[in-house]
Formats: sequence, structure tokens, C-alpha cells
Amino acid sequence: MTFPVVGMVGGGQLARMTHEAGIPLGLRFKLLSDTPQDSAAQVVGEVVVGDHRDLETLRAFAQGCDVITFDHEHVPVEHLRALEADGVPVRPGPDALVHAQDKGVMRERLTALGAPCPRHRLVSDPADVAAFAAEGDGFPVILKTVRGGYDGKGVWFVRSADAPEARDPFLAGVPVLAEEKVDFVRELAANVVRSPHGQAVAYPVVESRQVDGVCDTVIAPAPDLDEDLGGEAQALALRIAEELGVVGHLAVELFETRDAEGRPAILVNELAMRPHNSGHWTQDGAVTSQFANHVRAVLDLPLGDPRPRAKWTVMANVLGGDYPDMYRAYLHCMAHDPQLKIHMYGKDVKPGRKVGHVNTYGDDLDDVLARARHAADYLRGTIQE
Ligand code: ADP
Repeated sequence: MTFPVVGMVGGGQLARMTHEAGIPLGLRFKLLSDTPQDSAAQVVGEVVVGDHRDLETLRAFAQGCDVITFDHEHVPVEHLRALEADGVPVRPGPDALVHAQDKGVMRERLTALGAPCPRHRLVSDPADVAAFAAEGDGFPVILKTVRGGYDGKGVWFVRSADAPEARDPFLAGVPVLAEEKVDFVRELAANVVRSPHGQAVAYPVVESRQVDGVCDTVIAPAPDLDEDLGGEAQALALRIAEELGVVGHLAVELFETRDAEGRPAILVNELAMRPHNSGHWTQDGAVTSQFANHVRAVLDLPLGDPRPRAKWTVMANVLGGDYPDMYRAYLHCMAHDPQLKIHMYGKDVKPGRKVGHVNTYGDDLDDVLARARHAADYLRGTIQE
């Protein structure tokens, strides 16, 4: 009986939680991490410290791994192609992953597939931004660097052609994508997992609430979601996974809008090809978590049941506050709510940094939401009771 070795590139919390989900499956993990202190490096047995942008480091790391998968999207696709040429299974592969790395490539491909997207265009200077605005409803428009953004960094709300936000995005020398500012009702996410065999599962569509560009709360399933729209969002995510050849977890971040007749509709915001913050609720709220299904998919094992275990599950991110020691607060939260599920990432607490999340579940959404909010706010130090 030989259990495979999963090579994870990137030492963040997603790798930590993927490893956690792989333990009861009897899997072995090897990690390529930037530092020995990274979240996953603290818990994985075999850690290589090195630079994921260096091909020779990746090649040496891949020795002894049965498959390579990722905590983030930042490994250059040419390196992934080189690993594949060496005979290493890379999942998701470079041809899929490029759509999660580059928002320009993603928009072009999704538009070709007929997936609903905001009006968009690559732009090269502020005059181009003004032209893009004039072709639509005018300002405001959204500018995004096509690569390297996360948690709202790399996204600018531009109110006019001469605002500094119309110039700043071009300073990094990275191509810039202009998008209409979508007047959305709320943000949703459709999470699916696909295996090389083509088996796929879809989680219920969730509502994702952002504060200052950072995911704050996720409600599963999305309350009052039109049933047809929910089915449409799941079908769209499954189709994107298939067309792009995604292996593993795919998060399709969506805007819920209203069409000209006032009917609910969706537009795709962006794609992530790894476990995603909008799927953390599945650890305690679904029969099989996104992490367990991601690892099953990359090993081409049969996938697990994605259905919810409770009527409602709420995930709230725990951000660092002004108090570096969270241990006392954490003790209080455990005493306050014995049903609370706490997931800490082993990170140093810094103001605004995601250091963990909590999950709550039950039959009464108001109660489930209030308990998750209480714990996240108490851990951050914004409430004292
Ligand atoms: P990141 O890669 O940093 O997560 P996103 O493209 O997801 O960047 O954008 C971050 C947030 O900015 C989104 O969650 C949404 O709230 C807002 N946003 C992004 N694009 C648009 C848009 N076209 N219209 C309105 N809001 C947007």
C-alpha cells in the first residue's frame, strides 16, 4: 500500500488546511515554502525552503512528489510547462492556471465562452481610460493590474480621467484592465471541484461580503438566492472548469445584478484555482470540505459529497487587531460559544492581517450570523463583551 506524496507550492494557510484535510486520508505532503515560519511550514513534515519563481528549485522540490499543486497562483507558467515536460503531474496545469494568474487572459477566454462578464478592455494610459468610460456610462470605472493583485490590492475605483487613480495603475508597468463599475446587489461565489477523470462536484452558491476589498463574511447557502440563478451559477462554474481543463478546486467569484427587466442575473468577477476563502465554510458545514475535495481531485481520487450538513453555515474571517496576543480572546470565545469552530493559521497578529476564521452553523440564520460576527469581532478586539 503506497500512499502518494502531494507536493504543495506555497506555505500559506490554504496549504496548511489542505494538509490538515489530507491527514485522515493517509496522504503524505511535501511543502515548498518561502520561509520556515510560513503558516503551512509550521505543520507539514517535509518542508523545503526556497523560491517558487526559480525553476531549478521547483525541479529539485518535485523529486519524490507524485503531483504538484498550489497554495497560490504565482508560479510562472513556463516553469510549470517545464515540470510537465519532466513528467511531473501539475494540477491545475499551466493552461488552466493562466486564467487565474492574468485577468486579461481570463476576460478574453470567458468572453469567448459566452460567460457573462462586465464590459472591459485592456487600456494603456489615462486617455485610453477616458475613451473606455466615454464608450459606456462614463465614470466611475474600475482599473485592475492584470497580474499580482489580491484582497483588493491592484484594484482602483476611478472617479474621473484626471484623478490620481487614473494614472497610478500604470506605474507598475503591468498591463491594466478597465472594467465598467458593476452596480451589484451582492457578491456571490460558485465553488466547484473537478478531477482529471472529469468527475465534478458543485457546492451551494454562497454570498460573500467584503469590507475594504477583503472578504469578511461568507453565508452558505446565499440567502434568498433565486433558485434558477443559483443553478445557472453552478452550471456556469462547472462549464468553466471543464472548458479551461481545471483540476482541483475552482472558485468563480460573481456579482449578482439585475437585468433591464429587474430580473436577477450574474456576471463573473474573477477565478481562483485553489481552495478559496469563500469555501472555508465547507470545513464544518459540508459533508466533504473544499480542501479534502481539492486533494482528492489532484490525485484523481473519487470526489466527496459537497452537500451542506446544516441549514446555514457562516464563515467570518478573523483579522488582526491592535492586540498581538489573541490567546485570551480565543479562550473567551470558546467559553462563550461551545459550538464555535475556530481555525487559526499560526500567523503573527498584525492589524488587518487575516490570521484565522471561525465557522458557525445552525437553523436560524440571524443567530448563526451573530455568533460568527461576535467571535470574529471579539478576536480582533473591536468588542469587549
Ligand atoms: P482581487 O484580485 O484583489 O480579489 P477583485 O477583482 O476580486 O480583486 O476585486 C476586489 C473587489 O473589488 C471585488 O470583490 C469587488 O468588491 C470590487 N470590484 C472588482 N471589480 C469590480 C467591478 N467591475 N465593479 C464593481 N466592483 C468591483
